[in-house]
Amino acid sequence: MTAIYTKGVDRTMHEFHNETFLNAQRQLDYVAELMNLDAGIHERLRYPRKALIVSVPIKLDNGHTKVLAGYRVQHDQTLGPTKGGIRFHHEVNLGEVAALAMWMTWKCSLLNLPYGGAKGGVCCFPEEMSLNELERVARRYTTEILSIIGPEKDIPAPDMYTNEQIMAWIMDTYSNFVGYAVPGVVTGKPISVGGSMGRHEATGRGVAYTVKKALEKLKITTDTPTAAVQGFGNVGSISAKYLHQLGCKIIAVTDVQGGVYNPEGIDIPNLLAYVKERGTVVGFANCDKIENSELIALPVDILVPAALANVITKENADKVQCKILAEGANGPVTPEADEILNQKGIFVIPGILANSGGVVVSYFEWVQGLQHLFWSEEEVVQKLHFLLGKAFEEVYDVHTEKSVSPRTAAMIIGVGRVANAKMLRGLYP
Ligand code: NAD
Repeated sequence: MTAIYTKGVDRTMHEFHNETFLNAQRQLDYVAELMNLDAGIHERLRYPRKALIVSVPIKLDNGHTKVLAGYRVQHDQTLGPTKGGIRFHHEVNLGEVAALAMWMTWKCSLLNLPYGGAKGGVCCFPEEMSLNELERVARRYTTEILSIIGPEKDIPAPDMYTNEQIMAWIMDTYSNFVGYAVPGVVTGKPISVGGSMGRHEATGRGVAYTVKKALEKLKITTDTPTAAVQGFGNVGSISAKYLHQLGCKIIAVTDVQGGVYNPEGIDIPNLLAYVKERGTVVGFANCDKIENSELIALPVDILVPAALANVITKENADKVQCKILAEGANGPVTPEADEILNQKGIFVIPGILANSGGVVVSYFEWVQGLQHLFWSEEEVVQKLHFLLGKAFEEVYDVHTEKSVSPRTAAMIIGVGRVANAKMLRGLYP
Protein backbone atom coordinates (compact mmCIF):
# COMPACT_ATOMS: atom_id res chain seq x y z
CA MET A 1 0.00 0.00 0.00
CA THR A 2 1.49 3.33 -1.03
CA ALA A 3 -0.89 5.54 0.93
CA ILE A 4 0.64 8.71 2.36
CA TYR A 5 1.01 8.27 6.10
CA THR A 6 1.27 11.09 8.60
CA LYS A 7 2.61 9.95 11.99
CA GLY A 8 1.37 6.42 11.28
CA VAL A 9 -2.15 7.53 10.37
CA ASP A 10 -3.49 7.07 6.85
CA ARG A 11 -4.56 10.59 5.83
CA THR A 12 -5.25 9.75 2.18
CA MET A 13 -8.64 11.25 1.37
CA HIS A 14 -9.45 11.19 5.07
CA GLU A 15 -12.52 13.30 4.25
CA PHE A 16 -14.31 10.05 3.44
CA HIS A 17 -13.30 8.28 6.63
CA ASN A 18 -16.34 7.21 8.60
CA GLU A 19 -17.40 3.79 9.87
CA THR A 20 -19.32 2.76 6.75
CA PHE A 21 -16.63 3.90 4.31
CA LEU A 22 -13.84 2.24 6.29
CA ASN A 23 -15.93 -0.98 6.36
CA ALA A 24 -16.28 -0.87 2.57
CA GLN A 25 -12.53 -0.24 2.22
CA ARG A 26 -11.73 -3.13 4.59
CA GLN A 27 -13.87 -5.50 2.53
CA LEU A 28 -11.93 -4.44 -0.57
CA ASP A 29 -8.55 -4.73 1.20
CA TYR A 30 -9.45 -8.24 2.36
CA VAL A 31 -10.28 -9.57 -1.11
CA ALA A 32 -7.41 -7.63 -2.71
CA GLU A 33 -5.01 -9.63 -0.57
CA LEU A 34 -6.78 -12.92 -1.28
CA MET A 35 -6.77 -12.20 -5.03
CA ASN A 36 -3.21 -10.91 -5.04
CA LEU A 37 -4.59 -7.79 -6.71
CA ASP A 38 -2.14 -5.46 -8.42
CA ALA A 39 -1.14 -2.87 -5.78
CA GLY A 40 -1.68 0.13 -8.08
CA ILE A 41 -5.16 -1.01 -9.11
CA HIS A 42 -6.03 -1.74 -5.49
CA GLU A 43 -4.90 1.74 -4.46
CA ARG A 44 -7.02 3.36 -7.18
CA LEU A 45 -10.11 1.35 -6.23
CA ARG A 46 -9.89 2.34 -2.55
CA TYR A 47 -11.10 5.88 -3.25
CA PRO A 48 -13.91 7.46 -5.25
CA ARG A 49 -13.04 9.00 -8.58
CA LYS A 50 -15.10 12.10 -8.00
CA ALA A 51 -17.14 13.59 -5.13
CA LEU A 52 -19.27 16.69 -5.11
CA ILE A 53 -20.62 18.41 -2.00
CA VAL A 54 -23.29 21.01 -2.61
CA SER A 55 -25.46 23.38 -0.65
CA VAL A 56 -29.15 22.81 -1.26
CA PRO A 57 -30.93 25.95 -0.10
CA ILE A 58 -34.70 25.65 -0.01
CA LYS A 59 -37.60 27.83 0.99
CA LEU A 60 -39.62 26.04 3.68
CA ASP A 61 -43.42 26.24 3.67
CA ASN A 62 -43.21 28.55 6.72
CA GLY A 63 -41.24 31.09 4.66
CA HIS A 64 -37.85 30.41 6.25
CA THR A 65 -34.84 29.38 4.22
CA LYS A 66 -32.84 26.29 5.12
CA VAL A 67 -29.55 25.10 3.63
CA LEU A 68 -29.22 21.30 3.35
CA ALA A 69 -26.04 19.38 2.49
CA GLY A 70 -26.15 17.38 -0.75
CA TYR A 71 -23.63 14.85 -2.05
CA ARG A 72 -22.94 12.91 -5.22
CA VAL A 73 -20.01 10.49 -5.29
CA GLN A 74 -18.82 8.57 -8.36
CA HIS A 75 -16.59 5.70 -7.37
CA ASP A 76 -15.41 4.23 -10.66
CA GLN A 77 -16.01 4.74 -14.38
CA THR A 78 -13.97 1.91 -15.86
CA LEU A 79 -16.88 -0.14 -17.20
CA GLY A 80 -19.19 2.71 -18.24
CA PRO A 81 -21.16 5.62 -16.83
CA THR A 82 -21.78 5.57 -13.10
CA LYS A 83 -25.05 4.46 -11.55
CA GLY A 84 -26.51 4.63 -8.09
CA GLY A 85 -29.40 5.83 -5.96
CA ILE A 86 -30.15 9.10 -4.23
CA ARG A 87 -31.15 8.98 -0.59
CA PHE A 88 -32.90 11.61 1.51
CA HIS A 89 -32.06 10.87 5.15
CA HIS A 90 -30.83 12.70 8.22
CA GLU A 91 -27.75 10.47 8.53
CA VAL A 92 -26.48 11.04 4.97
CA ASN A 93 -22.84 12.14 4.94
CA LEU A 94 -19.87 12.04 2.58
CA GLY A 95 -18.36 8.82 3.97
CA GLU A 96 -21.63 6.90 3.82
CA VAL A 97 -22.33 8.04 0.26
CA ALA A 98 -18.77 7.10 -0.77
CA ALA A 99 -19.16 3.60 0.73
CA LEU A 100 -22.48 3.10 -1.03
CA ALA A 101 -20.90 4.26 -4.31
CA MET A 102 -18.08 1.71 -3.91
CA TRP A 103 -20.57 -1.11 -3.27
CA MET A 104 -22.45 -0.05 -6.41
CA THR A 105 -19.24 -0.56 -8.44
CA TRP A 106 -18.91 -4.17 -7.26
CA LYS A 107 -22.66 -4.78 -7.68
CA CYS A 108 -22.76 -3.56 -11.29
CA SER A 109 -19.64 -5.51 -12.16
CA LEU A 110 -20.92 -8.70 -10.48
CA LEU A 111 -24.13 -8.48 -12.53
CA ASN A 112 -22.13 -7.71 -15.70
CA LEU A 113 -23.80 -4.31 -16.17
CA PRO A 114 -21.87 -1.68 -18.17
CA TYR A 115 -21.67 0.74 -15.25
CA GLY A 116 -19.45 1.96 -12.46
CA GLY A 117 -20.83 2.80 -9.03
CA ALA A 118 -22.16 6.10 -7.72
CA LYS A 119 -24.44 7.29 -4.94
CA GLY A 120 -25.97 10.55 -3.82
CA GLY A 121 -27.97 12.00 -1.02
CA VAL A 122 -29.34 14.99 0.77
CA CYS A 123 -29.10 15.24 4.54
CA CYS A 124 -32.64 16.04 5.68
CA PHE A 125 -35.69 14.71 7.55
CA PRO A 126 -37.97 13.72 4.64
CA GLU A 127 -40.76 12.45 6.94
CA GLU A 128 -41.13 15.97 8.35
CA MET A 129 -41.25 17.68 4.96
CA SER A 130 -44.26 18.51 2.81
CA LEU A 131 -44.51 17.32 -0.79
CA ASN A 132 -43.77 20.87 -1.97
CA GLU A 133 -40.63 21.05 0.17
CA LEU A 134 -39.47 17.65 -1.12
CA GLU A 135 -39.99 18.85 -4.68
CA ARG A 136 -37.88 21.96 -4.02
CA VAL A 137 -35.11 19.80 -2.50
CA ALA A 138 -35.16 17.39 -5.44
CA ARG A 139 -35.10 20.16 -8.04
CA ARG A 140 -32.42 22.30 -6.38
CA TYR A 141 -30.22 19.29 -5.62
CA THR A 142 -30.52 18.21 -9.28
CA THR A 143 -29.55 21.70 -10.42
CA GLU A 144 -26.47 21.66 -8.19
CA ILE A 145 -25.23 18.26 -9.44
CA LEU A 146 -26.39 18.81 -13.04
CA SER A 147 -22.90 19.15 -14.48
CA ILE A 148 -21.85 15.66 -13.41
CA ILE A 149 -25.01 13.65 -14.22
CA GLY A 150 -26.52 12.62 -17.57
CA PRO A 151 -27.47 9.46 -19.47
CA GLU A 152 -23.87 8.96 -20.58
CA LYS A 153 -22.20 10.19 -17.39
CA ASP A 154 -24.02 9.23 -14.23
CA ILE A 155 -27.60 8.00 -13.85
CA PRO A 156 -29.29 8.34 -10.43
CA ALA A 157 -32.15 6.15 -9.13
CA PRO A 158 -34.30 5.89 -5.98
CA ASP A 159 -32.94 4.87 -2.60
CA MET A 160 -34.10 5.46 0.98
CA TYR A 161 -36.92 8.02 1.18
CA THR A 162 -36.83 8.79 -2.54
CA ASN A 163 -39.32 7.33 -5.01
CA GLU A 164 -40.78 7.46 -8.52
CA GLN A 165 -42.18 10.97 -8.01
CA ILE A 166 -38.79 12.33 -6.97
CA MET A 167 -37.19 10.68 -10.03
CA ALA A 168 -39.81 12.40 -12.24
CA TRP A 169 -38.85 15.80 -10.74
CA ILE A 170 -35.16 15.08 -11.31
CA MET A 171 -35.85 14.09 -14.92
CA ASP A 172 -37.98 17.20 -15.44
CA THR A 173 -35.39 19.55 -13.92
CA TYR A 174 -32.56 18.10 -15.99
CA SER A 175 -34.71 18.17 -19.16
CA ASN A 176 -35.63 21.83 -18.60
CA PHE A 177 -31.97 22.75 -18.33
CA VAL A 178 -30.92 21.03 -21.54
CA GLY A 179 -34.07 22.01 -23.44
CA TYR A 180 -35.49 18.61 -24.38
CA ALA A 181 -36.84 15.52 -22.60
CA VAL A 182 -34.09 13.25 -21.30
CA PRO A 183 -35.73 10.21 -19.68
CA GLY A 184 -32.37 8.40 -19.59
CA VAL A 185 -30.95 10.74 -16.92
CA VAL A 186 -32.60 8.78 -14.09
CA THR A 187 -34.15 5.36 -13.61
CA GLY A 188 -36.92 4.31 -11.26
CA LYS A 189 -39.23 6.82 -12.99
CA PRO A 190 -43.01 6.41 -13.15
CA ILE A 191 -44.05 4.26 -16.14
CA SER A 192 -45.79 7.25 -17.75
CA VAL A 193 -42.54 9.23 -18.06
CA GLY A 194 -40.36 6.43 -19.39
CA GLY A 195 -40.12 4.06 -16.43
CA SER A 196 -39.85 0.32 -16.85
CA MET A 197 -42.40 -2.33 -16.05
CA GLY A 198 -41.22 -4.19 -12.98
CA ARG A 199 -38.76 -1.55 -11.71
CA HIS A 200 -40.79 -0.69 -8.61
CA GLU A 201 -40.79 -4.34 -7.48
CA ALA A 202 -37.33 -5.23 -8.81
CA THR A 203 -35.22 -5.03 -5.66
CA GLY A 204 -37.61 -6.97 -3.41
CA ARG A 205 -38.33 -9.48 -6.18
CA GLY A 206 -34.58 -10.00 -6.52
CA VAL A 207 -34.14 -10.47 -2.77
CA ALA A 208 -36.80 -13.20 -2.79
CA TYR A 209 -35.29 -14.82 -5.90
CA THR A 210 -31.81 -15.03 -4.36
CA VAL A 211 -33.34 -16.43 -1.15
CA LYS A 212 -35.10 -19.10 -3.25
CA LYS A 213 -31.76 -20.01 -4.88
CA ALA A 214 -30.09 -20.18 -1.45
CA LEU A 215 -32.86 -22.40 -0.04
CA GLU A 216 -32.31 -24.78 -2.96
CA LYS A 217 -28.52 -24.82 -2.60
CA LEU A 218 -28.69 -25.33 1.16
CA LYS A 219 -31.38 -27.97 0.67
CA ILE A 220 -33.75 -26.32 3.12
CA THR A 221 -36.79 -28.24 2.00
CA THR A 222 -39.41 -27.27 4.58
CA ASP A 223 -42.69 -26.20 2.93
CA THR A 224 -42.97 -23.00 4.92
CA PRO A 225 -39.59 -21.51 5.78
CA THR A 226 -39.92 -18.78 8.39
CA ALA A 227 -38.70 -15.23 7.78
CA ALA A 228 -38.29 -11.85 9.49
CA VAL A 229 -37.87 -8.53 7.67
CA GLN A 230 -36.40 -5.32 9.08
CA GLY A 231 -37.67 -2.23 7.23
CA PHE A 232 -40.96 -2.14 5.35
CA GLY A 233 -40.32 0.42 2.61
CA ASN A 234 -39.75 -0.40 -1.04
CA VAL A 235 -37.24 -3.20 -0.47
CA GLY A 236 -38.60 -4.67 2.79
CA SER A 237 -42.28 -4.71 1.86
CA ILE A 238 -41.76 -6.14 -1.61
CA SER A 239 -39.26 -8.73 -0.33
CA ALA A 240 -41.95 -9.76 2.18
CA LYS A 241 -44.57 -9.88 -0.58
CA TYR A 242 -42.51 -12.21 -2.80
CA LEU A 243 -41.20 -14.32 0.09
CA HIS A 244 -44.83 -14.80 1.12
CA GLN A 245 -45.67 -15.80 -2.48
CA LEU A 246 -42.82 -18.32 -2.35
CA GLY A 247 -44.58 -19.95 0.60
CA CYS A 248 -42.53 -18.43 3.42
CA LYS A 249 -44.15 -17.62 6.75
CA ILE A 250 -43.17 -14.05 7.68
CA ILE A 251 -43.35 -13.88 11.46
CA ALA A 252 -41.96 -10.40 12.16
CA VAL A 253 -41.48 -7.06 10.42
CA THR A 254 -40.36 -3.66 11.69
CA ASP A 255 -40.21 -0.12 10.37
CA VAL A 256 -38.88 3.15 11.79
CA GLN A 257 -41.92 3.46 14.10
CA GLY A 258 -41.93 -0.06 15.59
CA GLY A 259 -42.59 -3.67 14.71
CA VAL A 260 -45.15 -6.49 14.66
CA TYR A 261 -44.78 -10.18 15.46
CA ASN A 262 -46.99 -13.22 14.99
CA PRO A 263 -45.36 -16.67 15.31
CA GLU A 264 -48.23 -18.16 13.25
CA GLY A 265 -47.34 -15.90 10.30
CA ILE A 266 -48.37 -12.34 9.45
CA ASP A 267 -51.07 -11.81 6.83
CA ILE A 268 -48.74 -10.07 4.35
CA PRO A 269 -51.28 -9.08 1.63
CA ASN A 270 -53.41 -7.36 4.28
CA LEU A 271 -50.35 -5.82 5.93
CA LEU A 272 -49.32 -4.30 2.58
CA ALA A 273 -52.77 -2.72 2.23
CA TYR A 274 -52.65 -1.54 5.87
CA VAL A 275 -49.23 0.13 5.40
CA LYS A 276 -50.41 1.83 2.21
CA GLU A 277 -53.17 3.45 4.23
CA ARG A 278 -51.45 4.08 7.59
CA GLY A 279 -47.79 4.49 6.57
CA THR A 280 -46.57 2.07 9.26
CA VAL A 281 -46.79 -1.58 10.29
CA VAL A 282 -47.50 -0.53 13.88
CA GLY A 283 -50.93 -1.56 15.17
CA PHE A 284 -51.55 -4.29 12.57
CA ALA A 285 -54.17 -6.86 13.64
CA ASN A 286 -53.37 -10.14 15.43
CA CYS A 287 -49.77 -9.19 16.16
CA ASP A 288 -47.67 -8.46 19.21
CA LYS A 289 -45.12 -5.65 19.33
CA ILE A 290 -41.47 -6.38 18.52
CA GLU A 291 -38.26 -4.31 18.59
CA ASN A 292 -35.48 -4.42 16.00
CA SER A 293 -33.15 -6.01 18.56
CA GLU A 294 -35.62 -8.87 19.09
CA LEU A 295 -36.34 -9.32 15.38
CA ILE A 296 -32.66 -9.83 14.61
CA ALA A 297 -32.43 -12.59 17.22
CA LEU A 298 -35.50 -14.61 16.12
CA PRO A 299 -34.90 -18.31 15.30
CA VAL A 300 -36.05 -17.97 11.66
CA ASP A 301 -34.81 -19.61 8.47
CA ILE A 302 -34.48 -16.27 6.67
CA LEU A 303 -33.57 -12.82 7.98
CA VAL A 304 -33.82 -9.80 5.67
CA PRO A 305 -32.38 -6.53 6.99
CA ALA A 306 -33.90 -4.00 4.55
CA ALA A 307 -33.47 -0.62 6.25
CA LEU A 308 -30.19 0.89 7.43
CA ALA A 309 -26.46 0.07 7.35
CA ASN A 310 -24.49 -1.31 10.34
CA VAL A 311 -27.43 -2.92 12.16
CA ILE A 312 -25.71 -6.27 12.73
CA THR A 313 -22.49 -5.60 14.58
CA LYS A 314 -20.03 -7.50 16.77
CA GLU A 315 -22.32 -6.65 19.72
CA ASN A 316 -25.39 -8.52 18.42
CA ALA A 317 -24.10 -10.91 15.71
CA ASP A 318 -23.83 -13.85 18.09
CA LYS A 319 -27.58 -13.52 18.77
CA VAL A 320 -28.51 -14.01 15.10
CA GLN A 321 -30.08 -17.45 14.62
CA CYS A 322 -31.21 -17.51 10.97
CA LYS A 323 -29.90 -19.93 8.35
CA ILE A 324 -29.93 -17.44 5.46
CA LEU A 325 -29.36 -13.70 5.84
CA ALA A 326 -30.28 -11.76 2.70
CA GLU A 327 -28.97 -8.20 2.70
CA GLY A 328 -31.87 -6.19 1.29
CA ALA A 329 -30.21 -3.06 2.66
CA ASN A 330 -26.73 -1.94 1.69
CA GLY A 331 -24.11 -2.67 4.35
CA PRO A 332 -26.33 -3.93 7.19
CA VAL A 333 -23.59 -6.29 8.46
CA THR A 334 -20.26 -4.88 9.67
CA PRO A 335 -17.04 -6.81 8.80
CA GLU A 336 -16.62 -8.00 12.43
CA ALA A 337 -20.21 -9.23 12.50
CA ASP A 338 -19.70 -10.89 9.13
CA GLU A 339 -16.90 -13.00 10.59
CA ILE A 340 -19.12 -14.08 13.49
CA LEU A 341 -22.01 -14.98 11.13
CA ASN A 342 -19.62 -17.01 8.94
CA GLN A 343 -18.31 -18.89 11.95
CA LYS A 344 -21.90 -19.69 12.92
CA GLY A 345 -22.43 -21.15 9.43
CA ILE A 346 -25.03 -18.56 8.40
CA PHE A 347 -25.30 -18.20 4.63
CA VAL A 348 -25.11 -14.44 4.04
CA ILE A 349 -26.30 -13.34 0.59
CA PRO A 350 -24.34 -10.09 0.24
CA GLY A 351 -26.16 -6.91 -0.71
CA ILE A 352 -24.23 -6.65 -3.98
CA LEU A 353 -26.12 -9.80 -5.03
CA ALA A 354 -29.27 -9.92 -2.88
CA ASN A 355 -30.44 -6.36 -3.58
CA SER A 356 -29.04 -6.07 -7.11
CA GLY A 357 -32.47 -6.59 -8.74
CA GLY A 358 -33.03 -2.83 -8.48
CA VAL A 359 -30.00 -1.82 -10.51
CA VAL A 360 -30.56 -4.65 -12.98
CA VAL A 361 -34.04 -3.38 -13.86
CA SER A 362 -32.73 0.20 -13.73
CA TYR A 363 -30.29 -0.90 -16.41
CA PHE A 364 -33.22 -2.35 -18.41
CA GLU A 365 -35.07 0.96 -18.00
CA TRP A 366 -32.05 2.91 -19.26
CA VAL A 367 -31.64 0.56 -22.25
CA GLN A 368 -35.37 0.76 -23.10
CA GLY A 369 -35.24 4.57 -22.84
CA LEU A 370 -32.17 4.84 -25.10
CA GLN A 371 -33.73 2.62 -27.78
CA HIS A 372 -37.29 4.00 -27.33
CA LEU A 373 -38.62 0.46 -27.25
CA PHE A 374 -40.37 -0.84 -24.16
CA TRP A 375 -40.66 -4.38 -22.87
CA SER A 376 -43.50 -6.25 -21.20
CA GLU A 377 -43.35 -7.09 -17.50
CA GLU A 378 -42.86 -10.78 -18.39
CA GLU A 379 -39.79 -9.91 -20.48
CA VAL A 380 -38.36 -7.75 -17.68
CA VAL A 381 -38.89 -10.43 -15.02
CA GLN A 382 -37.50 -13.20 -17.22
CA LYS A 383 -34.34 -11.17 -18.03
CA LEU A 384 -34.00 -10.17 -14.35
CA HIS A 385 -34.16 -13.78 -13.19
CA PHE A 386 -31.67 -14.79 -15.89
CA LEU A 387 -29.04 -12.24 -14.79
CA LEU A 388 -29.61 -12.81 -11.07
CA GLY A 389 -29.55 -16.59 -11.46
CA LYS A 390 -26.31 -16.44 -13.44
CA ALA A 391 -24.63 -14.17 -10.88
CA PHE A 392 -25.89 -16.36 -8.03
CA GLU A 393 -24.44 -19.50 -9.64
CA GLU A 394 -21.10 -17.77 -10.26
CA VAL A 395 -20.93 -16.62 -6.65
CA TYR A 396 -21.92 -20.04 -5.35
CA ASP A 397 -19.23 -21.74 -7.47
CA VAL A 398 -16.46 -19.44 -6.18
CA HIS A 399 -17.83 -19.83 -2.62
CA THR A 400 -17.54 -23.63 -2.79
CA GLU A 401 -14.40 -23.91 -4.96
CA LYS A 402 -12.34 -21.45 -2.90
CA SER A 403 -14.02 -22.15 0.46
CA VAL A 404 -14.74 -18.46 1.00
CA SER A 405 -17.91 -16.77 2.22
CA PRO A 406 -20.54 -15.81 -0.39
CA ARG A 407 -19.62 -12.14 0.21
CA THR A 408 -15.96 -12.76 -0.46
CA ALA A 409 -16.88 -14.81 -3.53
CA ALA A 410 -19.10 -12.01 -4.86
CA MET A 411 -16.39 -9.43 -4.20
CA ILE A 412 -13.72 -11.56 -5.91
CA ILE A 413 -15.88 -11.62 -9.06
CA GLY A 414 -16.98 -7.97 -8.87
CA VAL A 415 -13.58 -6.51 -8.02
CA GLY A 416 -11.85 -8.89 -10.43
CA ARG A 417 -13.84 -7.72 -13.46
CA VAL A 418 -13.24 -4.04 -12.70
CA ALA A 419 -9.54 -4.67 -12.03
CA ASN A 420 -9.15 -6.57 -15.28
CA ALA A 421 -10.78 -3.76 -17.26
CA LYS A 422 -8.63 -1.17 -15.44
CA MET A 423 -5.50 -3.13 -16.29
CA LEU A 424 -6.50 -3.26 -19.99
CA ARG A 425 -7.37 0.44 -20.13
CA GLY A 426 -4.17 1.44 -18.31
CA LEU A 427 -3.58 4.58 -16.28
CA TYR A 428 -4.03 7.91 -18.08
CA PRO A 429 -1.78 9.81 -18.82
P1 NAD B 1 -37.53 3.20 1.77
O1 NAD B 1 -37.37 4.62 2.08
O2 NAD B 1 -38.56 2.81 0.76
O3 NAD B 1 -37.84 2.37 3.10
C1 NAD B 1 -37.03 2.44 4.23
C2 NAD B 1 -37.70 1.61 5.31
O4 NAD B 1 -36.81 1.49 6.41
C3 NAD B 1 -38.99 2.25 5.85
O5 NAD B 1 -39.95 1.24 6.07
C4 NAD B 1 -38.54 2.83 7.19
O6 NAD B 1 -39.61 2.94 8.10
C5 NAD B 1 -37.53 1.77 7.59
N1 NAD B 1 -36.62 2.20 8.62
C6 NAD B 1 -35.91 3.34 8.72
N2 NAD B 1 -35.22 3.35 9.86
C7 NAD B 1 -35.50 2.18 10.50
C8 NAD B 1 -35.10 1.61 11.72
N3 NAD B 1 -34.27 2.25 12.53
N4 NAD B 1 -35.57 0.39 12.03
C9 NAD B 1 -36.44 -0.28 11.23
N5 NAD B 1 -36.84 0.22 10.06
C10 NAD B 1 -36.38 1.44 9.71
O7 NAD B 1 -36.07 2.69 1.36
P2 NAD B 1 -35.69 1.44 0.44
O8 NAD B 1 -35.59 1.92 -0.96
O9 NAD B 1 -36.56 0.30 0.79
O10 NAD B 1 -34.20 1.16 0.93
C11 NAD B 1 -33.92 0.34 2.06
C12 NAD B 1 -32.51 -0.18 1.96
O11 NAD B 1 -32.38 -0.93 0.73
C13 NAD B 1 -31.42 0.88 1.90
O12 NAD B 1 -30.27 0.38 2.55
C14 NAD B 1 -31.15 1.02 0.42
O13 NAD B 1 -29.85 1.51 0.16
C15 NAD B 1 -31.29 -0.42 -0.02
N6 NAD B 1 -31.56 -0.60 -1.45
C16 NAD B 1 -32.62 0.00 -2.05
C17 NAD B 1 -32.85 -0.23 -3.40
C18 NAD B 1 -34.06 0.32 -4.12
O14 NAD B 1 -34.26 -0.01 -5.30
N7 NAD B 1 -34.90 1.10 -3.49
C19 NAD B 1 -31.97 -1.04 -4.15
C20 NAD B 1 -30.90 -1.64 -3.48
C21 NAD B 1 -30.72 -1.42 -2.14
